[in-house]
Amino acid sequence: MKQNEAAAALSVWVALESPTSHAAGLNGMMDLVQKDVEGLPIAVERIPGRDGLGDMVLLRAGLDNGQPAVAVMSHLDTVHPVGTSAKELPVRIEGDRLYGPGVYDMKGGAWLALQAFKQVAVAGAAKRPTVFLFTPDEEIGSPTSRAIIEEIGKGSAAVLVTEPAREGGKIVTARKGVGRFEVKLEGRPAHAGSRHADGRSAIREAAHQILAIEGMTDYARGITTSVAPMGGGTAANVIPQHAWFSVDCRVTTLADGEAMEKRILALKAHDPDVAVRITGGMNRPPYEKSPMVAELFEMARKVAAGVGFDLQDCPMTGGGSDGNFTAALGVPTLDGLGIDGDGAHTLQEYALISSIAPRQALIKGLLETI
Ligand SMILES: [Zn+2]
Repeated sequence: MKQNEAAAALSVWVALESPTSHAAGLNGMMDLVQKDVEGLPIAVERIPGRDGLGDMVLLRAGLDNGQPAVAVMSHLDTVHPVGTSAKELPVRIEGDRLYGPGVYDMKGGAWLALQAFKQVAVAGAAKRPTVFLFTPDEEIGSPTSRAIIEEIGKGSAAVLVTEPAREGGKIVTARKGVGRFEVKLEGRPAHAGSRHADGRSAIREAAHQILAIEGMTDYARGITTSVAPMGGGTAANVIPQHAWFSVDCRVTTLADGEAMEKRILALKAHDPDVAVRITGGMNRPPYEKSPMVAELFEMARKVAAGVGFDLQDCPMTGGGSDGNFTAALGVPTLDGLGIDGDGAHTLQEYALISSIAPRQALIKGLLETI
């Protein structure tokens, strides 16, 4: 496929808006995937969505020789609300850049990996079964797809994740673990003027808790905590009865994840008259660059050299992905194999059209070599 044809085909995917909460958009994306493989030697399984989220599509191809598979994983949800492409981020080409909601994270990677998957399926070039899972909910922590991601991971010799490339084409071989917590506080309301002493401010208590939680950040150990969003109170002249906030926590090791979860869940109220309820925990375990991951990376370097470029990996990144789930199970996982570009989760999001062909060739080579 010529470069401009590839950009046009990818633009169709980007123009169909599919934020995680918009099941109809996600189902439309799954339809596009199915349409793209029609008539090819690829088995299609559609898995209905649940909890109001979109469907999943699972493709299978290649030999059925009892060997563990090589699996590709892509999410088709984006963080951009419906209407973004009509206003702040129109789908458009400017030079080598294709702009649009989710083009970099990660419709570009999903699209080019599917083209590679099709090429390998048609040529019968893989040494083992190949599977490709498209999911609808990565951007909210994969609540409905995690179980199938882990199930496919367990049956695979390697997992290839098509999250965006970093810093000029680098791939990802390690990611921090991610925790999410919700904190709800309930104090005692009172008139802020006439009955101030009777009130027990949920917001004042929240302030103490927020400083304690943010104080757990330890850059030397790669541990960060941050609070957002937050809210509380009803009016300026009322001592607030309620307050709430969310916590994001990142760690580099499983042990740190367990320790941080314990510390955050064990926080006690500073003011005994305010109830503090904390829920949540570690959502994505850390993805560490094990010897098996390093070995798979060396294989990818050789494939890339054959394609004609020097493949690098980047140091442990702070962002989590579905690669964390499979890597934590001990399955060799490579991530960041998707399209190059910049501006993930922003209104300047774009992908580099010139990166489609080499990245597609890299994934094709991996599907044939692993
Ligand atoms: Zn992503």
